[in-house]
Amino acid sequence: MASVRARLTTAYAFALFCTIVAFAIVLVIARRASAYRELDEHVKAQAAAVLDVISDAERAGVPLAVGPDTLSGSLVAPQLYKKLEGIGDYVLVLDPSGRALYLSFEAQRLSDDDRVTLQQAVLQARLNGPATFVTLDSDRVLLLARPDPQGEKVARVAAGASARAAEAAPGSLAGTMLALMPLFLLLSIAGAYMISGRVFRPVELIINEVEAITDGRSLHRRLPADGDNDELGRLSNTLNAMIARLETSFGGLRRFTADASHELKTPLTVLRTDVERAMNPRVGHNEQLIALEEALQETTRMADLVDSLLTLARADEGRFELATEPVHLESLAREVFETAVILGEDAGLEVSLPVIEDAVVMGDRTRLRQLFLNLITNAIKYTPRGGRVEVALSRRIDEVTFTVRDTGIGIAAGDLPYIFERFWRADRARSRRPVTEGGSAERGGFGLGLAIAQYIAQAHGGTLTAQSRLGRGSVFTVTLPFAEEMAGDASPATGGTG
Ligand code: ADP
Repeated sequence: MASVRARLTTAYAFALFCTIVAFAIVLVIARRASAYRELDEHVKAQAAAVLDVISDAERAGVPLAVGPDTLSGSLVAPQLYKKLEGIGDYVLVLDPSGRALYLSFEAQRLSDDDRVTLQQAVLQARLNGPATFVTLDSDRVLLLARPDPQGEKVARVAAGASARAAEAAPGSLAGTMLALMPLFLLLSIAGAYMISGRVFRPVELIINEVEAITDGRSLHRRLPADGDNDELGRLSNTLNAMIARLETSFGGLRRFTADASHELKTPLTVLRTDVERAMNPRVGHNEQLIALEEALQETTRMADLVDSLLTLARADEGRFELATEPVHLESLAREVFETAVILGEDAGLEVSLPVIEDAVVMGDRTRLRQLFLNLITNAIKYTPRGGRVEVALSRRIDEVTFTVRDTGIGIAAGDLPYIFERFWRADRARSRRPVTEGGSAERGGFGLGLAIAQYIAQAHGGTLTAQSRLGRGSVFTVTLPFAEEMAGDASPATGGTG
């Protein structure tokens, strides 16, 4: 495949060639038309001049027809002959009987046949009509006949001129152009090649730079942006923006992999310790059972992590499919509330459901349940004994809000922007505390719950937002678009507890 530069130059050369050829054709046609027009005017002027000479002579009383002049073989008076002689190539003056009173030198030089042809042509020409061509001595002659207005002795005059020069004019022009065209074309192509080279040099520089940057290790580098707002400046800026996005997403990917491996490493270590303990013949049967139970817990925990990672990976890939159907949120809210009450009892919390209104949304019931439960388990997890957790479902004009409010430890204002990030936890050190101190049950979550929850809300066309004050508690609000048209179709689950 030829380079863009070569293709551009070829296209330019072809376009130029077509333009020159079209221009040459138009020019030759125009030159031909103008040559014939000039010839026509020339002949008209000659005819008019002949008529002038004749009418001057008639007015002056100069005898028009005298006996044949011995020198010229002409029948006109010598002073008239002199004047007519200077007018042009083919000049004829005919009397009413068709006899030639005057024939110019060129006309006399013709062969007898041609002279007869000429005379016939003058006699047959339409008086006051347009000029016509006659072929004399293999030469085309434009001939114009005019009547003499006084017309006693002279009936008609005629003037003619050879069309040879007019016929040759376009041809010689075309010849000149054909001779010059290759030179002109060559010069233009060389110029175009040079100019396109200069235009593409910065593009080549950009290509080299991008190749160097995207080798995987230099994503922090950027293309030099010289502030130009031309196409190349904009290309550099666009590429820089793209490289910046690549850098961010590669960074994210690296962090994600590192975090995921780290999170898997801890339960694996615990699992190993537990299995080793269970296999130790020196420990008692009870202790072995405890170790095995702990190992089982760790496996569950790892399965949960892998499940979350898979969910997020699918979401990133765009393969997060929702089994969408009309979902009555009231029954769903009651269902998760009941789970919340049980969890709350264990944690010594008061869980309430002060507001509940029915609303139907289009969504995936299982995923929405996961979203609501994530928020509820967080509220319970991060609220100390004696606190309160409030769940509410309320309906607005075109949206539904599901709110989980707690009186827990809260989140610092500086941390709030990060809580939806993957693997983010307010207190990582505490969350990753080795299990040996308090067992796996006391370890915090993986920091993936809110990322998944937010993804579910967004996949439903909704939002998940958080408000919080450190030490006072938090409010998590899910807003979902209300499927009004579906509300009538689906049977309402009034008072249902799910
Ligand atoms: P985790 O599994 O650690 O709970 P999440 O993604 O659900 O992960 O939450 C991320 C972090 O946000 C938590 O580690 C915690 O620090 C903070 N957080 C979430 N919910 C609450 C809440 N209701 N009260 C206080 N902090 C919270």
